[in-house]
Amino acid sequence: MRMDTTAGTGPDTEVEVVVAGGGPVGLMLACELALPKVGVVVLERLTEVDATIKAGAINTPTAESLYRRGLLPALEEVQREALERFASFLRQREAAGADGVAQPPRFAGHFAGIMLRGDLLDADDPDFHAAGPADDVGLVPQAALERLLADHAAELGVTVRRGVELTGFDAAADQVTVRTADGVLRAGWLVGCDGGRSTVRRLAGFPFPGTPPEITGHQALVEMTGGEGLKAGWNGTDTGIYAHGPLPGRILTVEFDGPPADRGAPVTAEELQASLRHTSGVDVTVTKVLTATRFTDNARQVPDYRRGRVLLAGDAAHVHAPFGGQGLNLGIGDAVNLGWKLAATVQGWAPEDLLDTYSAERHPLGAWVLEWTRAQVALMRPESHARALRGVLTELAGTVDATAFFAKRISGVLHRLDLPGDHPLTGRSAPDLLFSDGTRLGDRLRSGGGLLLDLADDSALRGRASGYADRVRVLTARTTGPAPAGLLVRPDGCTAWAVDAAPGDGAPASLDGLDDALRRWFGDPCDGPA
Ligand SMILES: Cc1cc2nc3c(=O)[nH]c(=O)nc-3n(C[C@H](O)[C@H](O)[C@H](O)COP(=O)(O)OP(=O)(O)OC[C@H]3O[C@@H](n4cnc5c(N)ncnc54)[C@H](O)[C@@H]3O)c2cc1C
Repeated sequence: MRMDTTAGTGPDTEVEVVVAGGGPVGLMLACELALPKVGVVVLERLTEVDATIKAGAINTPTAESLYRRGLLPALEEVQREALERFASFLRQREAAGADGVAQPPRFAGHFAGIMLRGDLLDADDPDFHAAGPADDVGLVPQAALERLLADHAAELGVTVRRGVELTGFDAAADQVTVRTADGVLRAGWLVGCDGGRSTVRRLAGFPFPGTPPEITGHQALVEMTGGEGLKAGWNGTDTGIYAHGPLPGRILTVEFDGPPADRGAPVTAEELQASLRHTSGVDVTVTKVLTATRFTDNARQVPDYRRGRVLLAGDAAHVHAPFGGQGLNLGIGDAVNLGWKLAATVQGWAPEDLLDTYSAERHPLGAWVLEWTRAQVALMRPESHARALRGVLTELAGTVDATAFFAKRISGVLHRLDLPGDHPLTGRSAPDLLFSDGTRLGDRLRSGGGLLLDLADDSALRGRASGYADRVRVLTARTTGPAPAGLLVRPDGCTAWAVDAAPGDGAPASLDGLDDALRRWFGDPCDGPA
């Protein structure tokens, strides 16, 4: 069937891709599809951007992806506001003569509520500096990120139909017919970004194996009296875990008496107060709930993120406890990995199996996150063996080496895909090289697409991309510091191929593997050698 490349807004629309769910992952995916001009409609059942308190920070790959799309100034502004609110929390506690030391605003993360001290991180460790300015933004609350992505999607011309719920679909070999209360959309592809209780996942029949929930968690912003008796930061007690701050009124509790009876019921002030009193032993009174959410440690993942013309991304593909700040980041990474591959498939230049590399590349990271969060739940249990282990881990986490170990995993700076090639950069996010004209690599990736970076002014290197002019830009540049001689960067920012300079003349040591990498990720050349 013929697909329109522009997304209509009325019922019975034809469009290239329908994204179900306009949370952070659906919006990010829609932006990544709109960049190469794929027609996309986002269906979102909520009428407004969700303001519920969820993630409080983003990791380095997320910050880097947003930076590469020109969103760094907006992220910096969000972080500045978050830091002001942190400072206000510290002032309030100081004024109230509260117990305990508030966590310093520098984000170093936590493992099972064991705080990692930012001052133990080696400021010169190159792993923390490869992402350029994106290394300096992290304090970005989820609701602010969703607003930012909604604005970006609007700038890119994405159609987001708010207040419209996907109610069903039929997936055939050549199209997907999506049903909503507003009408029918005929699409080439459907991507379920509709969260942990995904309708798309259920209706498409994706298996969702994993481990059942054992805990009940709450996170909220509240007004309360008696809060000065709470300790700031994460606290393990004989009855569970509670956290207070770093925003005024922000509380989190974890109880180990089983999952909630009704996950869908609204969270009340009474429920939060009871949980906070139970886990902290402090006689607080919750007077107002500003925003609240309930969570569990249900840990599940679909084995394959694709079934024919239906794909999943974000929480729709994987759920787990929120400890250690991974879910949002995992989903944004899914969206960035999937966006260009689906665009290439829609636009007809994708090499065979390109779309299947999405699940192959993202599933292992998702599986790791599930294990990472299960380990934390095990450590948080209020029983003597877990407490003993927690004591050991707390001591270990106070060392320089362990802080680096945890911080690198939490921040995502070690992420590496298993791609062909033995250069140390292959499979890693491309380093944010600083060019001699003052621009950075991140500035050159805004329009998406592939990029062959020629850092040795080498015509043979450039010539290899001559058949890919419509898919791979070539940039000849000089860097201010040490750099490889050549780099092939995928549209998602991953290094597909890299070469160092040969000793002596600065030319690339070898162009072996470049043709294969071009074909692997960008298909057959239009003409010329490849
Ligand atoms: C308490 C808590 C703390 C967290 N902290 C962190 C953290 O620190 N760091 C981190 O990385 N992650 C954290 N997370 C996880 C993070 O919030 C999620 O991973 C993230 O929201 C997933 O985004 P998503 O877009 O996949 O799904 P969602 O955010 O759930 O968005 C799905 C969207 O789909 C819409 N939708 C659902 N069904 C339909 C339908 N049938 N039709 C149309 N629309 C539909 C929903 O309205 C929603 O807007 C936390 C989560 C919780 C609960």
